[in-house]
Amino acid sequence: MGKSFMPTIRTERELKKVQLEGLQWTVNHVYQHSEFYRNRFDEAGVKPRHIKSLKDISKLPFTTAADLQEGYPFPLRSVPFEKIVRIHASSGTTGKRKVLCYTQKDISDWANMFARCYEMAGLTPKDRVQIAVGYGVWTAGVGFQLGCERLGAMAIPVGPGNIDMQCQFLEDFRPTVICATASMALLMGEEVEKRGIREKIGLRKVIMGSERSSDAMRARMKDLLGVDHVFDITGLTELYGPGTGIDCDRHEGIHYWADYYILELLNPETLQPVPPGETGEMVVTTLRKEAAPLIRYRTRDLTRLIPKKCSCGSILPMHDRLLGRSDDMFIIRAVNIYPGQIDHILSNTKGIGSEYQIHLDRKEDGKDYMTIKVERAEGETPDQDAVLVQTLESEIKTQILVSGKVEIVDYGSLPRSERKSKRVFDHRGI
Ligand code: ZN
Repeated sequence: MGKSFMPTIRTERELKKVQLEGLQWTVNHVYQHSEFYRNRFDEAGVKPRHIKSLKDISKLPFTTAADLQEGYPFPLRSVPFEKIVRIHASSGTTGKRKVLCYTQKDISDWANMFARCYEMAGLTPKDRVQIAVGYGVWTAGVGFQLGCERLGAMAIPVGPGNIDMQCQFLEDFRPTVICATASMALLMGEEVEKRGIREKIGLRKVIMGSERSSDAMRARMKDLLGVDHVFDITGLTELYGPGTGIDCDRHEGIHYWADYYILELLNPETLQPVPPGETGEMVVTTLRKEAAPLIRYRTRDLTRLIPKKCSCGSILPMHDRLLGRSDDMFIIRAVNIYPGQIDHILSNTKGIGSEYQIHLDRKEDGKDYMTIKVERAEGETPDQDAVLVQTLESEIKTQILVSGKVEIVDYGSLPRSERKSKRVFDHRGI
């Protein structure tokens, strides 16, 4: 075994100590070196010396994507330009891109975090990693590459697309791991099947980034590519890039690097913490980032903390897969619901398709009702409809705590969109 990238921390207490030290370092650093943060702190009436415990994080002001856009081209910059060795930008389509600066230490920390991801997924310097994600100004390709080299494994930097070359490399170089988005990995799987080369390739693991995927997609991926494990890597440009967390081979949740950043899960309306295990918006505060630190950055991504220890024994806490965006939230009978929660239930139920609509109505009794229309899976007959309806309605009631009526409709009967489909139809006329 080579070098380990896991934290040397052994107890919760030690982890909290590392977090508090990092938080105090960060607030001092940004207050001294960033006009943006100093103004924000002053407006909120908070000084670095007020941060005496981890609970004091709630005194700090939030940072949003809009702040990054307004500060274009070098938002949140907290070091002089001569210390910046690289920038990355998000592939944002509307408005200005989010640009993030990195010092040499930031790049090195990111490489360590990413190497830790690979280690968590059981990779060693003997592995060969075909990297089929985008290279460029965004953080994907270069992050996967950096981590791979830091671990000491062999990187095969192909980038996305290029199916012919990908398949040829799978045969010739025999990578053991492929890194791709979920749809790219599926596409490769179908191609491997079509070409009948599964016996000639040596893939064992898929590491997926930046896209939601269902258990059904994973199962198909495993089948088509003949791999043992499919891992979910997390991250966002604002927070270094991909590589800030991954599931281990127990797949009980996504371990995240709590020694590099603090993750809060907040109700996006009230901005108060949600009870452990409940869905909330991920809000992150970095503990070591020099060039563009994040103070309570609202990611808009939704997930829940998994309030138990992983059976692998790691001290690193876990959150669930991403359940959607807080912008898509709706409220029914005083419960906040995210389409992702419904999506999650549907995509883990056999016999139904991936297209669905959520309809909200207010009836004469003054109460709100939710109806979910979902397509039967391709090739399925209606004779199982009644059972499916019953299963789904009870799952919804248990997991979301609100009753919903389920209607199964024919495959292909709901409209498709090349862009993101509209899911929620609110007829309540509020
Ligand atoms: Zn684990």
